[in-house]
Amino acid sequence: MIDSHSHSILSHDGKVSIEVLRDKAASMGAEYLAITEHLDRDYLYCGLSRERFIRQLNLEKYFRGFAEAKKGENGIYLAYGIEASYARKAVNRYLNELSGYPFDVIINSVHTIYNGDLYLGKAYRHSREEVYNTYLDTVLESLRAPYDYDIVGHIGYVIRYAPYEQKTICTPEFSEKIDEILKEIIARGKTIECNTNIRLHGYTFLPELPILKRYKELGGERITFSSDAHVPERICDKYAEACRLVKSLGFTHWTIYKQRKPYTVPIEDFE
Ligand SMILES: [Zn+2]
Ligand SMILES: [Zn+2]
Repeated sequence: MIDSHSHSILSHDGKVSIEVLRDKAASMGAEYLAITEHLDRDYLYCGLSRERFIRQLNLEKYFRGFAEAKKGENGIYLAYGIEASYARKAVNRYLNELSGYPFDVIINSVHTIYNGDLYLGKAYRHSREEVYNTYLDTVLESLRAPYDYDIVGHIGYVIRYAPYEQKTICTPEFSEKIDEILKEIIARGKTIECNTNIRLHGYTFLPELPILKRYKELGGERITFSSDAHVPERICDKYAEACRLVKSLGFTHWTIYKQRKPYTVPIEDFE
């Protein structure tokens, strides 16, 4: 088992130490766990909103804390990761900050549109069509960010908190933009994560299955498993189900990163 995405208490919404996450993953028999704290510099450009006052990650403190936890990795590879939350205005900060630390893996995520995190809900005052289009435009823009990254975070995050009756983003009016995103990911050799942190009925992970299916059709191979756990109980959550689903689409390997280099791990059957 592998897990490419998790948050400790160093992230503003985390609950436990890196050590607790590490030991939980090891006790489950996982071979690889990436700690990927939130780097939400996008929030610094959200005006006088709630986002602006959310505790920011101290990269120096994270670097030291991770190094301590790394000493106790016991049969598991503990990866030093980060989840950088894209915003056009934050690009220069990321260029400086991301190059200053020896990360194993960098996730490029989009959480913020219209100067607010979708999680906090303000964006949804606009129509579904407008919000989904803006989200997809921002994802495409994020793929072209000038800083290094490896994994594209939770494609379709916009549906996670959507109040609309029709939540799916897999309707014809968005398919052209989704194709453009998938082709860009493939051309750049990046990895898509299957992010199981979704509670919507009928979903095991994001992206939605038709998107992953289309990615495969277009020649995409690189995927990874991500629980996006903020508590130890969620590490590798829904792993067996995720394996079954991606195998049914023809994927055979997960991609993981160590020192920014991709490695493949066979996707096995779990009962
Ligand atoms: Zn995220
Ligand atoms: Zn996350």
